[in-house]
Amino acid sequence: MIHRRIVIVGSGFSGIGMAVRLLRDGERDFVLLERASELGGTWRDNTYPGCRCDVPSHLYSFSFAPNPNWSSTFSPQPEILEYLRGVARRFGVVEHVRFDHELESAEWDESEARWRLETSRGPMSADVLICGQGPLSEPKLPDVPGIESFEGTLFHSAKWDHEHDLAGERVAVVGTGASAIQFVPAIQPEVAQMHVLQRTPPWVVPHPNRAMKPIERALYRRLPLAQLAMRAGIYWARETFVLQFRNRKLRNLATRMGLRQLEQQVPDPGLREKLTPRYEMGCKRILPTDEWYPTLMKPNVEVVTDALREVRRRSIVTTDGTEREVDTIIFATGFHVTDIPIAAVLRGRDGRSLAEVWDGSPIAYKGAAVAGFPNLFFLVGPNTGLGHNSIVFMIESQVSYIAGALRAMRGRGARTVEVRPDAQAAYNRELEALTAGTVWVTGGCASYYIDRNGRNATLWPTFTWPFRRRTREFDSGAYAVA
Ligand SMILES: Cc1cc2nc3c(=O)[nH]c(=O)nc-3n(C[C@H](O)[C@H](O)[C@H](O)COP(=O)(O)OP(=O)(O)OC[C@H]3O[C@@H](n4cnc5c(N)ncnc54)[C@H](O)[C@@H]3O)c2cc1C
Repeated sequence: MIHRRIVIVGSGFSGIGMAVRLLRDGERDFVLLERASELGGTWRDNTYPGCRCDVPSHLYSFSFAPNPNWSSTFSPQPEILEYLRGVARRFGVVEHVRFDHELESAEWDESEARWRLETSRGPMSADVLICGQGPLSEPKLPDVPGIESFEGTLFHSAKWDHEHDLAGERVAVVGTGASAIQFVPAIQPEVAQMHVLQRTPPWVVPHPNRAMKPIERALYRRLPLAQLAMRAGIYWARETFVLQFRNRKLRNLATRMGLRQLEQQVPDPGLREKLTPRYEMGCKRILPTDEWYPTLMKPNVEVVTDALREVRRRSIVTTDGTEREVDTIIFATGFHVTDIPIAAVLRGRDGRSLAEVWDGSPIAYKGAAVAGFPNLFFLVGPNTGLGHNSIVFMIESQVSYIAGALRAMRGRGARTVEVRPDAQAAYNRELEALTAGTVWVTGGCASYYIDRNGRNATLWPTFTWPFRRRTREFDSGAYAVA
């Protein structure tokens, strides 16, 4: 059986970032398992028209690999994918990736002190398992009766059907989240009719995206320090955004900005009423766009606020009983987030799966380690997501923390490292205290930040620099190292 010291799951920002660090630390005995045939994670899978990041590119990129050539301040998906491919090639990561290898299960073998893995290409084992499987990598379809009977075209936005021509079609879009607000304006001009099914209106704010000027790119190429300074400026500016999640008065400023945009762009009071959020801004992800409202006012677009009740062979039926004939249904219904799918296939020391241990409420220590699961680490694990800043900053923090753990193991000749349950519990009590009173739990919405037991399982609830400080050194005192 193939054995590796380290197996990483996933080849998105997390997996690639971890691999670069291992290579820099002189580690060669590792592989990345990637279930797809290409690397890139989110940015490989989400190819829908209009897909781009909503965090500025100078910051939504690795600190060790700045890219002076971004075409715009918030880059489109193809450029981010190309960037990730370039980083993986440049740092020698690609030869460590095992494509078309899905991790199907992992069991901790206590006697051998290693993980026994089943992959779609056969068994393996590893001393240490690092999961960078992605926070938004499993598309979620709603459980609507009749979906399987639909005779038209149907797909999720994360699996865009590029073979299918939407020109002149009647299209239903289910969902009005971060993906829909990007692709609906992009496809509206070509379709004959579009029905946008909205369960909850998103809070929308103006998008500051603009093309990068040639002179800026030339400057960043010649003076990398200038780009680093820009990155730092963006980082600190975005850090201040977290204050509005914690303070209603500050939130009011952004709320007014959102309402002003709605008033200016949507003169029709009926439509405006439908598009006005009834929960506090920030409770769900705030979406930057200038095109959403103008698109919804086009004559070929209908905003439907009744929920989808049923799908028939050639139509959709909403809860008010209205039937609309459609050729294509696009689900922009998000991802499995708090029900982290990989947790169902990881079995720890007592034989239970992580999903059973979590019982609907994922918790970890520093988003990376879980008691009862030795030699297992997560990247972008529980409570590391952000509503205000770049996840790449969190990933790099965790990468350095896990690299510290691996160094500690090697330095002490240890076979296992496992977080102590008391350290994990204390850490999570602190997170709960930091979450209390924030808009995520008081804002009056249902969001993917909150798990089925009502707990914030997703977000890091404060500034990101304290997370960086906490993950700078591997704190072996919180672990049993044996
Ligand atoms: C459309 C979209 C736009 C986004 N925009 C932003 C943004 O602007 N700013 C921001 O901060 N975040 C954004 N995000 C969140 C985004 O997921 C993260 O920013 C980041 O890309 C996560 O990187 P990752 O490597 O952790 O996960 P991913 O990029 O999801 O990569 C995970 C990889 O693991 C693989 N994998 C999963 N399970 C298995 C398995 N069992 N076996 C083998 N391989 C497996 C997947 O195939 C995938 O390649 C966006 C997400 C989406 C979906």
